[in-house]
Amino acid sequence: MFDLTGKVALVTGGNSGIGLAMAHGLAAAGASIAIAGRSADKNAAAVRELRARGCDAAAIEADVRNESSCRGLIAVTGARFGRIDVLVNNAGTNIRKGPDEYTLDEWREILDTNLTSVFVTSQAAHPMMKRTGGGKIVNLGSMLSIFGVPFAAPYGASKGGVVQLTKALATAWAKDNIQVNAVLPGWIDTPLTRGARADVPGLNERVLARTPAGRWGNPQDLAGIAVFLASPASDFITGAAIPVDGGYSAQG
Ligand code: NDP
Repeated sequence: MFDLTGKVALVTGGNSGIGLAMAHGLAAAGASIAIAGRSADKNAAAVRELRARGCDAAAIEADVRNESSCRGLIAVTGARFGRIDVLVNNAGTNIRKGPDEYTLDEWREILDTNLTSVFVTSQAAHPMMKRTGGGKIVNLGSMLSIFGVPFAAPYGASKGGVVQLTKALATAWAKDNIQVNAVLPGWIDTPLTRGARADVPGLNERVLARTPAGRWGNPQDLAGIAVFLASPASDFITGAAIPVDGGYSAQG
């Protein structure tokens, strides 16, 4: 039910944090992996790790803020592996400050990275998935898809948008046997949130107090949901936004 042997997965932002852990999970289930990121060094290290575990892996250096790069990711994955069965739209960024302080360029950087890239890359993947009889798209939302905080207005807007985009694509492409779902991680210890812990006074204590599991998540906590949403086990699940948060969103 969870076997991904012979499947090809593209993970944007797959060289770090949650994306890298998801790539390892998908690889352990049998998938070949393409990862995408801007840093050649981080890409090379991630590919080395995946290959060391016997995975057929390749990296694509790309900036998902560019439309042509997003479309290129699908073309290059198709050329290298012959198909694409799973697209994990994971690349993401944040700039933390009050809503009055953002420039329009900062707003655009966050929206382009976190939301527009999901639209463009999914749109580019659709014909290839349709041609091979179906596919799985997994989009990364956030607790800020459902809650607001004073220090992340564009990030919250982008992640709220990811959930609505997920629902729209799910309804449009169900007829092509493509399932589109979102994952909403709680607070996970990665390079992205290490910055938040340093910048936002009291954040660490608030996260620990509010998370029933009593800890920050680690990237490996997201590997299982990636495999589930990429595999036949989830064939009748589409348009869902699934928290993986140690109970954070269940806490009143
Ligand atoms: P990391 O900072 O560890 O990883 C971010 C990844 O995105 C890196 O691989 C980075 O690669 C890539 N990336 C960023 N910008 C671009 C770009 N313009 N083009 C291509 N790749 C890019 O963060 P996380 O693992 O924490 O985050 C992964 C996803 O999970 C994000 O969408 C984030 O919003 C989401 N998330 C994370 C949470 C957490 O608590 N950590 C909570 C909720 C959601 P490179 O630098 O090489 O470009």
